[in-house]
Amino acid sequence: MTIDHLWAVSTLIFAPFIGSFIGLLTLRLPAGRPWALSRSACDACGRTLGVVDLIPLLSFLVLRGRCRTCHAAIPPRYLLLEGGCLLIALWSALTQTGVMVPVTAILGWGLLLIAIIDAEHLWLPDRLTLPLGLVGALLTVGFANASPWTPLLGAAAGFCGLAAIAWLYKRVRGFDGMGGGDPRLLGAIGAWVGWQGLPSVLIWACVAGLSVAASKAIVRRRLAPGQELPFGAFLAIGAWLTWLWGPLHVLIRDGLA
Ligand SMILES: [Zn+2]
Repeated sequence: MTIDHLWAVSTLIFAPFIGSFIGLLTLRLPAGRPWALSRSACDACGRTLGVVDLIPLLSFLVLRGRCRTCHAAIPPRYLLLEGGCLLIALWSALTQTGVMVPVTAILGWGLLLIAIIDAEHLWLPDRLTLPLGLVGALLTVGFANASPWTPLLGAAAGFCGLAAIAWLYKRVRGFDGMGGGDPRLLGAIGAWVGWQGLPSVLIWACVAGLSVAASKAIVRRRLAPGQELPFGAFLAIGAWLTWLWGPLHVLIRDGLA
């Protein structure tokens, strides 16, 4: 096994555990409950969970999604997120090589966590978006041969660009078109994809957002007035695709060539 394989294999092994942790964070952060340094316990009966209960994917399947003691249902999000993180790791392993496999997976896992919390609570906590940007700056400079200016310029362009759009929208329409956390999320994404990738992130985000709005409109006829869509979750999708496939103008140029 070469060192390249080792990066990929360890990313795949790690993935379901990251998924469990993301499941815990999506439940506890919005509820303001402690999430670090506390032993895992059943939310229904309070029994401290042992090793048998905490093996990602397998525990859920073996216990058929129920607590061993009180038989309360374990939130299915744990199974979904453990599988989802494994898929992200697999996607990374199939498209990247060497250390870029874990680097790419870390971006995917971070975006997944942020997208879920935004989709469920329309909330983009700074304590998630800011570390995403910081980790992006360190990893792209450290491993992807980016110059230190690339993440800095990307973060500044992402934040200022979206803050300017939000300000303009409010001036024209008279109310907020997006949440206050969206510019900070696009800033964090800019630290990963650089300013050249930002237009692509926004285009993918709009395509994703419009698809969701359109399918909701078909199913429920129309959006309820004032119903908000989680723009941060769509930005996360845009960031992931831009990171994997590169900026759209390069993609189109290479496709035509
Ligand atoms: Zn229980």
